[in-house]
Amino acid sequence: MRMTDLLAKKRDKEKLTTAEIEWMIHGYVDEEIPDYQMSAMCMAILLNGMDDRETLDLTRAMMRSGKTLDLSPIRGVKADKHSTGGVGDKTSLVLCPMVAATGLKVAKMSGRGLGHTGGTLDKLESFPGFSSAISEERFFRSVNDFGLAIMGQTRELVPADKKLYALRDVTGTVPSIPLIVSSIMSKKLASGSDVIVLDVKCGDGAFMKTEKEARDLAESLTRVGRLAGRKCAAVLTDMGQPLGKAVGNAVEVREALRVLRGEEKGELLELCLTLGACMMTQAGVAWSAQEAKLELLGTIEDGSALEKLAKMVEAQGGDRRAVYDPSLLPEAPVQRETPAQTGGFIRRIHAKDVGLVSMHLGGGRATKEDVIDLGVGVLLNKKVGDPVAAGESLGRVYAPDEEKAAQAVELLRGCFEITSEPVAKPPLILGIVQ
Ligand code: URA
Repeated sequence: MRMTDLLAKKRDKEKLTTAEIEWMIHGYVDEEIPDYQMSAMCMAILLNGMDDRETLDLTRAMMRSGKTLDLSPIRGVKADKHSTGGVGDKTSLVLCPMVAATGLKVAKMSGRGLGHTGGTLDKLESFPGFSSAISEERFFRSVNDFGLAIMGQTRELVPADKKLYALRDVTGTVPSIPLIVSSIMSKKLASGSDVIVLDVKCGDGAFMKTEKEARDLAESLTRVGRLAGRKCAAVLTDMGQPLGKAVGNAVEVREALRVLRGEEKGELLELCLTLGACMMTQAGVAWSAQEAKLELLGTIEDGSALEKLAKMVEAQGGDRRAVYDPSLLPEAPVQRETPAQTGGFIRRIHAKDVGLVSMHLGGGRATKEDVIDLGVGVLLNKKVGDPVAAGESLGRVYAPDEEKAAQAVELLRGCFEITSEPVAKPPLILGIVQ
C-alpha cells in the first residue's frame, strides 16, 4: 500500500478499507508514515468525513496500537464515564463515588488539564499525598475491594492517539467528528469497561460550539461504542457557562465535597444524577432513571458516597482526613471579590475566558510540562439568569499574590455580560442519546 493512494482516495471522498486504515495507523505509529502525510490525511478526513464503518475501523486500529486493559478478573459490571471537556467540570469527583456506592464498579482512567480546561487528576492531587500514578495491580485491587479507582492513562495505552492528537492540535484538525470519536473511543475501549457514558459538552467552553454539532458527536460516539460491543449512552450538556461555581483545582474539590455532603443541590448534582442514572440503566442495575436517581441520592444521604471517595484517596496514598475536613486542602493566600460595575441580570459568563482566568492565576497549563498551583482559581457568585446589584460580587478570585489578584479581578469582570432585561436560566441538560 502507498499513503499517496490513500490520500487521493480520501481527497476524492472515497471510503478507506479496513485493511487500509489498519495499515495507515500501524505505519504512522512505527514512523514509516511521516507527519506531513498524516496531517494531510487528518485534513482530508476533516473535510470529507468518514462513515460509521470507517470510524469504527479507525477506532479499533488506534485501540490496537498499544496495550489494552482486561478488566474481566474484576467481579461485576464495570462502568466508565467520559467528558469531552469543559470549564469547572468536577463531575467525576462526585459521580464516581456515588455510582461506586450503589455497587457498580468504576475503573476510571482520567487526564490532566491543558489550556482553559481542567483535568480530574490535577483536582484529585489537591488531596495531600494522592497519586494517580499507581500500578495496574493496585488499580485492580481497589476496584475489586471497594469498587473505585481513578488513575492516569498509562503510556502504553493507545500510543496512536498521543501522536495523532499532538499532530491534530497543530494542524487545525481537532474539530472533526470521526477524529474525535476515534480518539475518545479508542481510549475508552482500551480501558475495558462494559458500560461507557459520555458527557458531550456544547457551547463557548467546549470543542463543539453548537447543539447540532454536539448532538452529531454524541450520536457518532454512541453508535461506534455499540458497534464495538459496549453499552453506551451520551448526555448533551451546556458549556455556555462554567459548570457549577468553582473553577480551579482545590476550589473545585471543595465544591464537589459540598455536593457529596448534601450541602449543595444545584446543577452539578443534577448532572451527576443524570449521568449516574444512565450508567446504572445501561448496566442493567436499575429499571428506570427515576429509580436510579433515588438510589444515587441515597448515597449522599447516608454518607456512603463521601466514604467511597475517602477510601479511594487513602488507597492512592492521599490524606483521607481532607475529604472530611476541606481546610486541609491547598488554599491560595489572597482572596478578592469582583464587584459588578452595573446592576441587572447576568446574560452570559464566557466559560472559556473564566478558564483562562484560572490559568492566568497559575491553575492551568499552557504546555504539558507546566507546574500548576492547586490552591488558586475562581468561585462564581452569580450564574446566568441571576439578578445582580451594582457593587455586589460576581465571584471571588483565589490568587498567589496581590498583583495577580488585581489582574484576575479585572479579567473575571470581563467574563460577565450584564443586561437590564431579565434573563431565563438556561437548561443544563440538553438531551440524552441512548
Ligand atoms: N478529547 C479527546 O480525547 N480527543 C479528542 O479528539 C477531543 C477530545
